[in-house]
Amino acid sequence: MTAPPSRTITRAEVAGSVVDVRVTEGRIVGVGPDLRRPGDEVVDAGGAALLPGLHDHHVHLLAMAAARRSVDVAACPDPAAFAEAVARADREVPAGRWLRVVGVDERHGPMGADRLDRLAPGRPVRAQHRSGAAWALSRVAQAAVGPVGADADGWIHRADAALRVRWAEAEGRPDLAAVGRRLAELGVTGVTDATPFDDDGGFGLLAAARRAGHLPQQIAVTGGPALAAAPAPTELERGPVKVVVEDHALPSPADLVAAFRSARHAGRAVAVHCVTRAALVLALVAWDEVGAEPSDRIEHGSVVPLELVAPIAERGLTVVTQPGFVHARGDRYLAEVEPDDVPHLYRCGSLIAAGVPVAGSTDAPFGPDDPWLAVRTAVERTTSAGRRLGADEAIAPDTALERFLSPLDAPGGRARHIGVGGRADLVLLDRPLADALAEPSARHVRTTWIGGMVVHDRG
Ligand SMILES: [Zn+2]
Repeated sequence: MTAPPSRTITRAEVAGSVVDVRVTEGRIVGVGPDLRRPGDEVVDAGGAALLPGLHDHHVHLLAMAAARRSVDVAACPDPAAFAEAVARADREVPAGRWLRVVGVDERHGPMGADRLDRLAPGRPVRAQHRSGAAWALSRVAQAAVGPVGADADGWIHRADAALRVRWAEAEGRPDLAAVGRRLAELGVTGVTDATPFDDDGGFGLLAAARRAGHLPQQIAVTGGPALAAAPAPTELERGPVKVVVEDHALPSPADLVAAFRSARHAGRAVAVHCVTRAALVLALVAWDEVGAEPSDRIEHGSVVPLELVAPIAERGLTVVTQPGFVHARGDRYLAEVEPDDVPHLYRCGSLIAAGVPVAGSTDAPFGPDDPWLAVRTAVERTTSAGRRLGADEAIAPDTALERFLSPLDAPGGRARHIGVGGRADLVLLDRPLADALAEPSARHVRTTWIGGMVVHDRG
């Protein structure tokens, strides 16, 4: 990552006009015709679109790093498909690294250590049952962590804290540099980490990764209510306090109000995880008790019954949604969600029409990490199998892209624009915007700059 004294991006399509954009010391110093000066590094955009870097308003960076060495076998129907998925992951993860296998269950056959060794020879493997309550380790993994008590099928039930600490240490630190590179290749220059950390270890890892340049993106962090009053490290911006309304064990209204109040006492907004109708109703009750503030957010808003759209708008709440779930999980929703609830899933157009600020995000790694896929899905409302879900909620392509262009501290607000004095957080596509939005895809991302530094250049 090196920056020349000045760089001119020539013939870039900016807000519909083809202009030059000149960057010095991480700032945009000129937007207009013929800005190139002697000594400038020149990047010829050739008429392709230059955009403000994308912001993903809800991700989990440490979990993204962990997921990079994980393979999810939940979609594998039988032992053969399981074996194929693990063997493929073994070829993709760098040698010597631990491989985590998640989403395992009885369909996948016995988890004997010898079988795991055969599927990933020489590699430490840890397989986690989909219940989250049992694990299996390959022999290589067992050699690294010491004795484990496994049943005849290889499962370790009730792994104690000491064993968990041993395998966490053996697995090593998550590779946040790989996450930074992945975000850069997607054109993402800023994220909000929405993890409800309850101690400052997570902040510390993210701050260190930013200091080291492993995560070049601007990062806002939420943390959970336990950290409401804790200052964020200087490398990170402080977002709202993440409050989780558990899907299956709703908190008492008093507990939820107390969580909101702890944020307010620290002068902060709340970002409230709401994925069910009941959770949303309960959160609105808490907001009526404590009072809503302009930066308060509903995370996911997975189920928003029509009659709650107006109450959300009246309270001035922002919805931080993930259209990518319609793609990734839509087919399961169509099979499992009650038919009456299907029109309420991941609303977008109706919220925008009601005046609700709607921000775009991916919830990576729990949803697909690609904001361009989210843009495409917000437009097409199609599942991965090609079925439509909530077609009435579809929005126009430019409106969908704008969901990812708002500032980190005003998600769903006005899209940032390329103007003199602004930060040079930029993404250059390989074609004009209208062509890119006709078929939104991360493949169209050519170069990404953060603070004027090249963080991705596909050449
Ligand atoms: Zn999340």
